[in-house]
Amino acid sequence: MIKRTKIVATIGPASSSVQTLTKMIHAGLNVARINFSHGTHESNGAAMVHVKAASKKTGLPIALIADLQGPKIRVADIPKPIPIKPGQKIVIGQDFDMDFDITGSVKPGERLLIEDGLIEFKILKVQASSKTRKGKIYCEVVNGDAVRPRKGINMPDTVTKFPIMTDKDIADLKFALKQDVDFVALSFVRGPEDVVNLKQLIKKYLPKGFVTPKIIVKMEIPAGVESFDAILKETDAVMVARGDLGVELPAAKVPVIQKIMVRKSLAAAKPVIVATQMLDSMIHNPRPTRAEVSDVANAVIDRADAVMLSGETSTGQYPVECVQTMTDIIQEVEASEFMADECLFTGEPDEAHAAAVAGSACSLARGVGADAIIGVTDSGFTARFLSHQRPHAPVYMLSANPTACRQMTLLWGVQPIMKKWYHSIFDLLDSAIGVVKKAGFIKTGERVVLVAGRPTGSRINIVEVKVVE
Ligand code: PEP
Repeated sequence: MIKRTKIVATIGPASSSVQTLTKMIHAGLNVARINFSHGTHESNGAAMVHVKAASKKTGLPIALIADLQGPKIRVADIPKPIPIKPGQKIVIGQDFDMDFDITGSVKPGERLLIEDGLIEFKILKVQASSKTRKGKIYCEVVNGDAVRPRKGINMPDTVTKFPIMTDKDIADLKFALKQDVDFVALSFVRGPEDVVNLKQLIKKYLPKGFVTPKIIVKMEIPAGVESFDAILKETDAVMVARGDLGVELPAAKVPVIQKIMVRKSLAAAKPVIVATQMLDSMIHNPRPTRAEVSDVANAVIDRADAVMLSGETSTGQYPVECVQTMTDIIQEVEASEFMADECLFTGEPDEAHAAAVAGSACSLARGVGADAIIGVTDSGFTARFLSHQRPHAPVYMLSANPTACRQMTLLWGVQPIMKKWYHSIFDLLDSAIGVVKKAGFIKTGERVVLVAGRPTGSRINIVEVKVVE
């Protein structure tokens, strides 16, 4: 049984061998995420090479996401934990210089959270020093027992003023572009200008002859949540990054924000990934909790394009079992009565044509009880709009563009098939069905809906019903 909802898995020491990756692909992996918050260029580069090798070995396209760390602020590498207690007054910046000048951004009264919110400080006074990085922040401890080395810091009340692309991110971006990644994920996005800035950097550093990767915005801070509509217009895809989001905002707000972001992304025909802690207990256990199963199932019912694994596959004990567990949940839910309904397009006006034609193709497929929708695409553009409709019939997209084939692996319900380009529309209509039949996806007597643009490569303007001979 095919699955429509895609699986993104973070690749790390537990999963970066070709052997494990091959098993993960057979278990249902579609997209591999390399998290540049961890590892070196050497280890991350090797993981990417191994993903490509496993993809080649299995004959299945697997997209690569380079996830840039962004301005993740951490406690300095202090030699041992510093004990603290509620009510105690402390000074930040006294013993160590700061990597980021947060003194230019924070204000008295704001909160500073450490270690996923386990430790909370209230800022009392700020002595800013943006030039020397020798400013100081005077705080009172609200909660916590000790400040531990390298723990993450969140500032949920603060709109940071420094650029979200750090020197490390630029170096990682240059490196990732040379590895021909399909997506770049941008952390701690505050507004559309952050996406525009990344687009310019990609343009600047993309090696000659390489295809431009698509951008995934990670929605994980309040400023980004507030500007979501404007960010959605600018980005190619969205990740609901619930880890940081649940620290920056009260965790109780996250489920509703997740649902709103999935709904809006779907309406704009932009792929959306639900991420973090989906099968967290499987880092150490071979079976998930019932609540985790329900979390994955609900993201599938909401019709997110993809669900994501983080620590479960990067450092966990059961990377293959995690992917298989997600596949089992997805298939069970997709076969249920909860996968009905079509989607209304409310995206950009210049995309309304493609959305309307794709909509009629999907409605035609439903009307004639088609077994498959078959399309041809150069960039993957048509696939986005067929996927957006969440059609009952599986969508097979033929493309001559390897990057487009890999990028389409993120799209709900779309199975990319690599094929050399067609010379004419007649050539396409005659041979597309044969290609999908040869791949084993359809058989004689089944009904299919063909979607194409005339001439080949132009906007979609042809929808045809055919019976497989
Ligand atoms: C998250 O915070 O949920 C997330 C996906 O980001 P990262 O794993 O990079 O912290």
